[in-house]
Amino acid sequence: MAAAVVPAAGRGERLGPGAPKALRELGGAPLLVHAVRALARSRAVGLVVVVAPAEGVAEVVGLLDSHGLDGKDVRVVAGGGTRQESVRLGLAVIPPEAEIVLVHDAARPLVPVEVVDAVVGAVRSGAPAVVPAVPLADTVKRVAPGAPGRPEPVLDTPDRSTLRAVQTPQGFRRELLAEVHAKALAEQEAGGGPAVTDDAGLVEWYGGEVVVVPGHEEAFKVTRPLDLVLAEAVLARRRASDGF
Ligand code: C5P
Repeated sequence: MAAAVVPAAGRGERLGPGAPKALRELGGAPLLVHAVRALARSRAVGLVVVVAPAEGVAEVVGLLDSHGLDGKDVRVVAGGGTRQESVRLGLAVIPPEAEIVLVHDAARPLVPVEVVDAVVGAVRSGAPAVVPAVPLADTVKRVAPGAPGRPEPVLDTPDRSTLRAVQTPQGFRRELLAEVHAKALAEQEAGGGPAVTDDAGLVEWYGGEVVVVPGHEEAFKVTRPLDLVLAEAVLARRRASDGF
């Protein structure tokens, strides 16, 4: 069985003031509810652990109850101060019989079930760590960040054909993900440790192999106000085409 952790304890300040990002509405339901439904749609996923803001656990339980989630096992735990800590707290309640763990951002409400299944499938086929990703449309430059408002010198331009924009759900053998989180925590408590922005980054930091499977343009992360407009449009198109 695969279990999924959904970190949803961030404030999402880039979206502007208001409710925590995961609780912003999209087509009549919070982003978080869409994200949990997207995971629950996969037959491979038997349990979803939602990591809620510490002060919002009861509210999140209520929201999930009121939106009905296809009889899947959904649990809610309190999150921490960083995404990494929130994931670790979610991971801690996953039973040992779940050999595969997915980590999926609440901020990616529209990930198609094909992506979830492809990630689980790649882990089942032997890859210990799997990320879905898409090629980049933009050319990317590395810069030397300077004072705010000043032009930034360009250092170099990586070959775009070798770059991928990474999405979620990311999939792992459970023991591997638990191990790298435990190592990172121990090192961070000692004042060092990795500074990474995703779970696969922790695996890479400790020398583990990570592979990429195709992601999907609809698995984008809702970060800025324009992303919500795009998400509404994608949802409206789905509802028009298949009564989703
Ligand atoms: O801020 P960003 O969009 O990178 O956050 C990615 C995900 O991590 C979001 O779903 C957010 O709710 C979650 N997160 C969390 N706990 C934190 C910070 C972020 O669960 N302390």
